[in-house]
Parts: sequence; structure tokens; C-alpha cells
Amino acid sequence: MLTIRNLSKTYANGVHALNDVSLDIPRGMFGLLGPNGAGKSSLMRTLATLQEADSGSVTLQGADGGTIDVLRDKDAVRRQLGYLPQDFGVYPKVSAEDLLEHFAVLKGLTARKQRREVVDGLLQQVNLWDARKRKLGTFSGGMRQRFGIAQALLGNPRLVIVDEPTAGLDPEERNRFLNLLAEIGENVAVILSTHIVEDVTDLCPTMAIMNKGQVLLTGKPNDAIAAL
Ligand code: ADP
Ligand code: ADP
Repeated sequence: MLTIRNLSKTYANGVHALNDVSLDIPRGMFGLLGPNGAGKSSLMRTLATLQEADSGSVTLQGADGGTIDVLRDKDAVRRQLGYLPQDFGVYPKVSAEDLLEHFAVLKGLTARKQRREVVDGLLQQVNLWDARKRKLGTFSGGMRQRFGIAQALLGNPRLVIVDEPTAGLDPEERNRFLNLLAEIGENVAVILSTHIVEDVTDLCPTMAIMNKGQVLLTGKPNDAIAAL
């Protein structure tokens, strides 16, 4: 689904955030595990076309069977991509329904009836239907993250990137959130970046472990963690 080859990035301060990263990311849930500072966010931002790499290549399989050059053809990638950043902020005074509709307009869903259908369907999918009229400032951390997923799913992406989504969630909210991700992963590629081992062992069939800008190993979670 996504092929990453020899990706490198050094920041202006001299930090080698990505050091010759190569990965093959399949459809389904893919876990990217690593401690703080490993380079996970740098990789996620690069894949989400929000940051330039210094060298390397990334290709995404398009819906039509062709390939997209992720580092160059940014508009094409953005049409296929959903992204939940680590620091996803919401407008506290706006209702979930209104903000999601606003994001839908930005995504180009201009036909009102179709937009309502998409927004309503997503609110149901992430289990926020009953809470749709509530202001986002009243939401729990887990509800905000589920809202973030609804936002990321606008536009039917083939690739969904979620960066450290479970940090700060209590166990029940975390489970609910991870189950939602697993459902989504049945249809699209989901990259889950996390520093929490259980996030990947619980539901990612394949994973990579990153540290200091490098991929240490990839494989099935139990094999990979046993090899550490
Ligand atoms: P992770 O998401 O795994 O915590 P990051 O990609 O955020 O890792 O960070 C990798 C390294 O790059 C860290 O040493 C971090 O301090 C550094 N870094 C991240 N973003 C920047 C930036 N914009 N400018 C300079 N250094 C950065
Ligand atoms: P927390 O305990 O952190 O506040 P909860 O998981 O209890 O979070 O959920 C808080 C709110 O989320 C509930 O009051 C409800 O409005 C909404 N909610 C939770 N589960 C559902 C659901 N299955 N469908 C619709 N809304 C839900």
C-alpha cells in the first residue's frame, strides 16, 4: 500500500530525525512503536505531506492501481489521506456536528444533502451521534480523539495516519478508541504511531520499531518484541 525507501531528514538544529528509513506498509493496522524522540512524528508529518524530507522516496498505491509519488504529488496524496495529528486541537465553543460539517466543506463536499449524509454517518461510526450537538469543549479526551477520527475519515481516505492517539486516555476510552481504529483498519491502511507497547500488540498484525531516527525491526508484534 505504502512503500518508504531510504527516507532521511535532518532538522536545522542538526538532529537526524529520520535516518535512512525504509518500510513497507500493508493495508490494515500497522503499528509504529518507539520512545519519545524516535522520529515517529517526523515520519508521520512527512507521509502526511506536511514536512519535506531531505532524501528518499515514498509511493502510495492509488485507488486506480497506479502509484502516487507522496513526496512530490502532494495534492494527489491529500485526496487519499486522513490524518489525526498528535496535537489535534478543536474549537471548544463549536458543536461536534457543526465543526465536522465545516471540515467537510473544506474537503470539497459542497452539496448540502450529500454532506449531511456523510457527516451523520461519520458521527454514528465514531459513536458521537448522541453527543453531536454538544460543544467540543465539553468532550472527554476519548471523545475528542473519536471526533478527530471522524474528521480524518472525511473524503474516504485509503490511508489513515494517527499519531500517538491514546496518550492521555483512560483505559476504557483507550479500548473504545482502539476498537474503532481496528474497524477502520478492515477497509483502509491505518498507521498507528505510539510509544505504548500494548497499543500495537493488541491489534496490529504488523509493526515496526523505531529508535533514534532508524527502523530497528519490522514484523509481527510478538516476534518483533521478542527479538528486542
Ligand atoms: P517522536 O514522534 O518519536 O517523539 P519526533 O519526530 O517528534 O519523534 O522527534 C524526533 C527528533 O527530532 C527529536 O530529537 C526531536 O527533538 C527532533 N525534532 C522534532 N521536530 C523538530 C523540529 N521541528 N525541529 C528540530 N528538531 C525537531
Ligand atoms: P468519559 O467517561 O471520559 O467522560 P465516556 O466514554 O463516558 O467518557 O463518554 C462520555 C460521553 O460520550 C457520554 O456522556 C455520551 O454522551 C457519549 N457517548 C459515549 N458512548 C457513546 C455511544 N456509544 N454513542 C453515543 N454517544 C456516546
